[in-house]
Amino acid sequence: MTHKLETQTVHAGTAPDPTTNARITPIYQTASYVFDDAGHAARLFGLQEFGNIYTRIMNPTNEALEGKITALEGGVGALAVASGHAAQLIAFYTLMEPGCNIVAAKKLYGGSLNQIGNAINKFGWEGRLVDADDPANVAGAIDEMTRCVFIESLANPGGVVQDIAALAKVAHDAGIPLIVDNTMASPTLCRPIEHGADIVIHSTTKFLNGHGNSIGGVIVDSGKFDWSASDKFPSLTQPNPSYHGVVLADALAPIGPISFIVGCRVLGLRDLGPAMAPFNAFLALTGMETLALRMERHCENALALATWLKVHPKVDWVSYAALEGDPYNALCAQYLGGKGGAVFTFGVKGGHEAGVKLVESVEVFSHLANIGDTRSLIIHPASTTHSQSSEEELVEAGAGPDVVRVSVGIEHIDDIIADMAQALDQI
Ligand SMILES: *Cc1c(COP(=O)(O)O)cnc(C)c1O
Repeated sequence: MTHKLETQTVHAGTAPDPTTNARITPIYQTASYVFDDAGHAARLFGLQEFGNIYTRIMNPTNEALEGKITALEGGVGALAVASGHAAQLIAFYTLMEPGCNIVAAKKLYGGSLNQIGNAINKFGWEGRLVDADDPANVAGAIDEMTRCVFIESLANPGGVVQDIAALAKVAHDAGIPLIVDNTMASPTLCRPIEHGADIVIHSTTKFLNGHGNSIGGVIVDSGKFDWSASDKFPSLTQPNPSYHGVVLADALAPIGPISFIVGCRVLGLRDLGPAMAPFNAFLALTGMETLALRMERHCENALALATWLKVHPKVDWVSYAALEGDPYNALCAQYLGGKGGAVFTFGVKGGHEAGVKLVESVEVFSHLANIGDTRSLIIHPASTTHSQSSEEELVEAGAGPDVVRVSVGIEHIDDIIADMAQALDQI
């Protein structure tokens, strides 16, 4: 019997511990695991049998987290890694060879713009950033060296919802997978695989963990993409020199459509190395038990604050997809059940100076660079995350001098609004 999402957030992946009967998944704080005998060791290393070898590659606490996220996203498997950025990098590494490119939405988390727009050039890859609001722009940027399309379902810093089904079609027409970063929406608002996504990425640092206490990332494989339909993905379909010539797609076919996520683990994570600490997996597992409850309150509070700000005399504009009349309101209804998440931006009258004054005047809100905490968070991008950018770049990135970003927490809405009111009064 498949349980409802709220039940899965509590139970999926976390049966009582098989060896101790502990109800809560223990923190398996071990670097390595004893082999039964030499034959067992050889089978594990040869991929003829799955099992624990070394915590860089797998760990039972991390495995519980992987199982929970797999269930919530409706995938066939997942891989937990050290951070959201590590998840992106390992997914790309499994799909790409030197000379290949990624077509990505321009409206992405700032760190992802940097990773895809600059950092990956050192691997001999290219990131092509386009306005994905119009799927034709994505189609136009794809060529025969493109290996994936990358978008965020609900884009950080908020307000932007992408047309997942239309972009999945564009990617599939070109024989490549759609990767959706679902960090901001979480599976309680959006399950990208149901709309055609092939791979889902999360920064568990944000809403999945939900308490701002550790960094983590996860890759989820839908199991739906046919890697063998072309010769574009040699890591999965060609003999692998680091596994005695094993072809992952063929070797794993009898078990299930899991060659991508196994490739991420046994090639990407094994060789690049950004493993998640089991303690961080434990914190993420604990946090995820309340995901559905928290998201409900996050969305309710964010909508109330956005509605209140929209008519405040010191506020110019509010960008929040759940607001009626917002340009992304229809896509928000289609993909997010009409909920806009916790994070949005607004413009204060008085530009840069007013933005700085606001973040210095709040008391309930914490002034910091994160989202997805139980606490309400605030940042003025132009003076922090985007302070190296020119005025033109600021506007292009949705981080103009007047822009303030909030991640609305789960405190009582009266206290959130009262704090914002007193801070705006000080401008
Ligand atoms: C934070 C974030 C990331 C990066 O995740 P880290 O865990 O900080 O590495 C990626 N995508 C989105 C949408 C994010 O908010």
